[in-house]
Amino acid sequence: VIAGPCSIESYAQFSETAQAVKKAGAAALRGGIFKMRTKADSFQGLGGEAFEIVKRVTQETGMPMVSEITDPRQVGALSEVVDAFQVGSRNMHNYELLKELGRQKKPVVLKRGFTAYLDEWISAAEYIEREGNSNIVFCERGIRTFERSTRNTLDLSAVPYIKQRCDFPILIDPSHATGVTELVPSMGLAAVAAGADGLLVEVHPRPENAASDGDQALDFEVFAKMMSSVEKILGALDRPIRTN
Ligand code: PEP
Ligand code: MN
Repeated sequence: VIAGPCSIESYAQFSETAQAVKKAGAAALRGGIFKMRTKADSFQGLGGEAFEIVKRVTQETGMPMVSEITDPRQVGALSEVVDAFQVGSRNMHNYELLKELGRQKKPVVLKRGFTAYLDEWISAAEYIEREGNSNIVFCERGIRTFERSTRNTLDLSAVPYIKQRCDFPILIDPSHATGVTELVPSMGLAAVAAGADGLLVEVHPRPENAASDGDQALDFEVFAKMMSSVEKILGALDRPIRTN
C-alpha cells in the first residue's frame, strides 16, 4: 500500500502523515510535488520547494517515495528524491514523457487515462518498455462515465484483465476512483479481494484543510482501520502484506 497526501504542503504535514501511514502498515509514501490540476488557478504543488521536505521525511521514515512527473525535463531533479515516478491520468497519452521514463531505470506507476480503453493503456506501457524499462506498475484510478455522484467510476475489471494479459503488477487508487472519502475504504477492500497487487491511497492529517483533494482523503484513523481490514482479506487469500 502506497499512502500519503494528494499534495505535499509542508514538512509538518508530510512528516506527520508519513509516520501515521507507516505505523498503519503502508509500504511506501505518495505525495504530489508537481500537480496536474484541472483548474489553472488551483494549487499546483510546491514544486522544487518540496524536494528538501521529501529528502528529510524519507530519511526519517526509511520509506520509499512515489511522486508524479509532469514534464520530461523533471527526470533528473526528481530522480534525486523519488524511488518511483508516477504518470498521472492526464499524461497517459504523453508519449514523449513515457519514452523518457523508458530511458531511465526507476519504476514507473502508469495511471490509466480517465478516457482510455484498457488496450490503449497497455499500449502506453509499451512505449516505456520499448525504451528499455520494464519496471512498470499499472494503476487504475477510475474512468469517466455518465455517473456524477462519484468523481469517476472504478473499473475493477481492469485487475483481472491486466493480470491475464501482462506480467506487470496493478494497483487500484480508490481515492481518485470515487472522489468521496466515505466510499474509499470499501473500494480499496474490493480491489484487494479482486487480486490487485496494491493500493494508492490519499491520506491527510486534516482532510478538511487539504490544499487539494480533501473530499477524498482519509484521516489517520480511517486509514488504519482500512489497513487492518486489508490484512484480513489478504489473510483469507493466503497472501502476505508487505510493510516497511
Ligand atoms: C494523483 O494521484 O495525485 C493524481 C493527480 O491522480 P490522477 O492522475 O489519477 O488524477
Ligand atoms: Mn489527488
